Amino acid sequence: MERIAIVGLGLIGGSLGLDLTRQGHPVIGIARRPETIQAALAMGAIAEGGTDLALVAGADVVFICTPIDVTVSTVAAIVPHLSPTTVVTDVASVKGEIVPAIEALWPGFVGGHPMAGKAEAGLGVAEAGLVFDRPYVLTPTEATPPEALGRVRAIAATLGATLCQCHPSQHDRAVAWISHLPVMVSGGLILACQQEADPAILALAQALASSGFKDTSRVGGGVPELGTLMARHNRAALLDALTQYQRQIDHLKAQIAGEDWDALHNTLAQAQAARPAYLKPK
Ligand code: NAP
Repeated sequence: MERIAIVGLGLIGGSLGLDLTRQGHPVIGIARRPETIQAALAMGAIAEGGTDLALVAGADVVFICTPIDVTVSTVAAIVPHLSPTTVVTDVASVKGEIVPAIEALWPGFVGGHPMAGKAEAGLGVAEAGLVFDRPYVLTPTEATPPEALGRVRAIAATLGATLCQCHPSQHDRAVAWISHLPVMVSGGLILACQQEADPAILALAQALASSGFKDTSRVGGGVPELGTLMARHNRAALLDALTQYQRQIDHLKAQIAGEDWDALHNTLAQAQAARPAYLKPK
């Protein structure tokens, strides 16, 4: 069993803590606030913990599960406490900027991103099995020690996640399409509805909204911090994706305005045919 430290006990750190503890790993949790440690102990996500980053000393593997924008600075702060064989991994939703910055700080680093999430944040919504049957992307580079990669792969595999490997820049372009673009599109959808000028129609629309609206608005109605961080740290790829999306909207608008129903049917048939490839069993 690996001695595991988790820095940042929110949705992802707390959920990993629950799973890793159940797998029998001794898990040390580190958070900014003592209340977070108390809550993580009470729910069985960690075996021990505290607010001092020096607690990472003695860990075999450290998971950095803080918000994206403090991931690199958190690694810089723990480096003085690590033993030379410690493997550090992270869970940040962007990799292109973060991976080289951490590699410069710690040689035994493996970038990671479990593709599982929720619209809410914080330890209160953490749950066991969050990453089960979900893709878990690892982003090794030429600098990643194979032994470190093997150890993180083994841990992710015991959580029942589906392992996937790619370069950090490939990761960021791919998640721009399927994760970051949907957040912006879904947020834009909710705000477009809010433009209805007649309060009675708006209230009716809200009363009639059902499963379709629930599905399409879910990721846009989540905590704004995560979407803002995605955009800040994956700006170029997200702008490319938004440009392509805008073209598709213009295309659909032109077909509807021109009453070109055959063309619209053809466009929607292409979308219907393409969708299963994104949802096939992993
Ligand atoms: P979260 O629920 O907000 O949890 C963040 C945790 O980090 C909290 O426990 C918080 O500690 C701690 N923290 C906040 N600011 C900090 C700081 N300045 N220094 C040290 N610790 C700090 O966030 P999350 O959704 O788990 O996201 C964490 C990471 O997972 C991010 O890198 C994100 O990109 C990635 N991720 C998120 C999702 C998702 O859907 N949410 C999916 C995959 C990956 P306190 O409780 O003590 O305040």
